[in-house]
Amino acid sequence: QSVEEKSNPKVSAASREISIEQAVQKVRETYNSGVTRCLKWRRKQLRNLYRMYEENANLMLDVLYQDLRRSKTESLLLEIDYMKNDLKHVLYNLDSWTKPERPDRDFVNWLDQVFIYHDPYGVVLIIGAWNYPLALSLLPMAGAIAAGNTVIVKPSEISPASARFIVEYIPKYLDNDAVIIIEGGPQETTKLLSHRFDYIFYTGSTNIGKIIYASAAKHLTPVTLELGGKSPVYIDDTADLEMTVDRILWGKFINAGQTCIAPDYVLCTKEIQEKFIQKSKRILKKWFGDDPQKTPDYSRIVNNRHFSRLQAVLDASRHKIAIGGKYDPGDKFIDLTILTNVDVNDKIMEDEIFGPLLAICVVKDINEALKFINERGKPLVLYVFSSSEKVHKIFASHTSSGSICFNDTIVFTGVHTLPFGGVGSSGIGTYHGKMTYDTFTHRKSCLKRNFFSVGNKLSSLRNPPYNEWKL
Ligand code: NAD
Repeated sequence: QSVEEKSNPKVSAASREISIEQAVQKVRETYNSGVTRCLKWRRKQLRNLYRMYEENANLMLDVLYQDLRRSKTESLLLEIDYMKNDLKHVLYNLDSWTKPERPDRDFVNWLDQVFIYHDPYGVVLIIGAWNYPLALSLLPMAGAIAAGNTVIVKPSEISPASARFIVEYIPKYLDNDAVIIIEGGPQETTKLLSHRFDYIFYTGSTNIGKIIYASAAKHLTPVTLELGGKSPVYIDDTADLEMTVDRILWGKFINAGQTCIAPDYVLCTKEIQEKFIQKSKRILKKWFGDDPQKTPDYSRIVNNRHFSRLQAVLDASRHKIAIGGKYDPGDKFIDLTILTNVDVNDKIMEDEIFGPLLAICVVKDINEALKFINERGKPLVLYVFSSSEKVHKIFASHTSSGSICFNDTIVFTGVHTLPFGGVGSSGIGTYHGKMTYDTFTHRKSCLKRNFFSVGNKLSSLRNPPYNEWKL
């Protein structure tokens, strides 16, 4: 049964009939009505969203399979359970997060009270990407609602089954006047961006991120830009290589490498490269058997355009393939592929790979690795595999990246106290856990003075006529 058949046509028709102008106007009016400031309203929306996850888990797994042929286990772990846990955390903490803060005061303000109020920004636009198509739209949406905003969500058109699910199911569970989903691609997004929003949260490529930033600047709208880029891995000879290879391969091949924080290329010595390949052959065979195309645990490339892009990268470097290299356009299947002795000028080093290809570049030591990393755009994440505390410290203090992770991949995103986001070309701003709520919250400072005469006498010292004594 398709998503369309399972949906309630009345509700989905209502969301489809609304124009972009009407949608923006509607959420603006709702925000201005003040309804979203009420904590009871926010809690109700978030509980309904949780109910949506619970009641439609199988359908969500189904749409992710339709878009990416992703296995149920990966979708539960990386998307559905992740969103549910995040929502539980938000609901549990909402009361304490939303309370006005009471910062310290100076001596001169000892008779005053000072607060920091948490204001919603207002009307938020969320533009999602296709690789984790439910989470990348719905996680920021939940944070924007928690902070008291109204929201327009534009899921990615490149994962159409997931976009359709969001369009049809969100209106069944959430306040239709406060949260509106717009289906479409660049044309619809461009139209949306011509309107003034109070906050824009974008996930996607660095190039389109620049377009979003320029559009936001016209209205001085603050942004979060969750972008991509090449995330490097460094391995030294103190690392446990068996565990290292296992952890890198897992981070690379989940979702067939279509993960913004997937290891992009490995920097290591020639000796480690050789051992890496031997161990990879064994591990990949254990995971996926002799023919990875037959396993149900391995995703497909999202569409023909991305398939052709990856095919061109593979064909340009055929002679460097140490493992894999097979592809099947009809099935959008690309084998788990590792390329060795990759040169900086090879095609695979031009852009973020965003597919199941891993490049290994040989370096002679840590200094060459640091130089290699620092000469390129700031990565979203840098992975370092080493048992040496000294090496960890050197990478932490001599490189700049959104995050740094020692001796594993991906798992740092599951820690909700760690901010997630890029720096430089990999993005602006962070989210996850409380940081998502903070992202959509303006911290409004406030001083409250009383009308007591003693305080008034003190503060009247500021009034003219000025003299030496007052100074
Ligand atoms: P994309 O930039 O092509 O698309 C993202 C969104 O922008 C989509 O909703 C799309 O409709 C819209 N869009 C596309 N062209 C547009 C235009 N000309 N004007 C206005 N809007 C436009 O990105 P993608 O291919 O969906 O995602 C892949 C990229 O996203 C990779 O670089 C990946 O690393 C990055 N990514 C980053 C994160 C993160 O959290 N930092 C997460 C996932 C993906």
